[in-house]
Amino acid sequence: MTHHEEDTGGRRVDTVDALWRHLVHTLDPVYPDEAHRMAQWLLEEATGLSRIQRIAHPERSIEAAERERLDAMVQCLVAGEPLQYVVGYAHFRSLRLSVTPDVLIPRPETEQLVEQALEHIPVQQAVRVLDVGTGSGCIALALKHERPDAVVVGCDVSTAALQVAQSNAAAHGLPVPFVQADMRASDLPDRTDGPFDLVLSNPPYVTMGEAATLPKRVRAYEPAEALFAEQGPLQYYHALAQQRDRLLRPGGQLLVEINEAYGAAVAACFREHGLSHVELHQDLTGRDRFVGARRSR
Ligand code: GLN
Repeated sequence: MTHHEEDTGGRRVDTVDALWRHLVHTLDPVYPDEAHRMAQWLLEEATGLSRIQRIAHPERSIEAAERERLDAMVQCLVAGEPLQYVVGYAHFRSLRLSVTPDVLIPRPETEQLVEQALEHIPVQQAVRVLDVGTGSGCIALALKHERPDAVVVGCDVSTAALQVAQSNAAAHGLPVPFVQADMRASDLPDRTDGPFDLVLSNPPYVTMGEAATLPKRVRAYEPAEALFAEQGPLQYYHALAQQRDRLLRPGGQLLVEINEAYGAAVAACFREHGLSHVELHQDLTGRDRFVGARRSR
């Protein structure tokens, strides 16, 4: 089969099959482990064709506009831009969320944070939950989606991030207010209308020393404000723990995602602030990734 065929109007058209092979061929040298997955994601984005449809209809023709969109997306990918920014969305638990370079691309570890958070919410008890540094809104929105009876609030210091979170809330019809607040500032509990039964956060936790070790697609494209703890790895955990009495109800639970190298340090920081039931948990790859703690009753 030829790569391009002439249609009756003299326009260049591709078949799905030819385009598929072209996509995999272009992506494979740059993303050897992910070329097929990426090619399918792009094809579906540009043409709406699922994997099954692609295989069932290899002769379907590709419109010029679809082809142009695909070429533009492939160019961005080959330049190193993350797939989720290129297509404009990411999957997080059961939600499809818009992402822009103003927000971190949600990670699988953070899906696990939500899993753990759900375990802290008693079955028949409506609780108030805060997600600090919400970014795309992923934690807050997934939690509200899975426990509609919970009152969930999200906050972020970045107004650009808040717009992304708000549009995600609207797209899914999830009533989660997103408010502007800086977790380093003492007005965090007031701005978010604390105290809460459960406070969650995936704060910036990459140290400046680790910056050079990040993959280019993270370092060059994801928001530095959401990645780096410029004042040291405990900066944000210290700030949250310091506000415990106005952020958490007595007995309230704090649950955070952490840098794998600072599990013991974050746990010690929480203990020093008088929090109890301090627990360190690992992610699915076995790395220290979460710390839970409670405000004493
Ligand atoms: N998990 C992210 C990374 O490895 C960092 C997220 C964060 O700083 N909260 O790039």
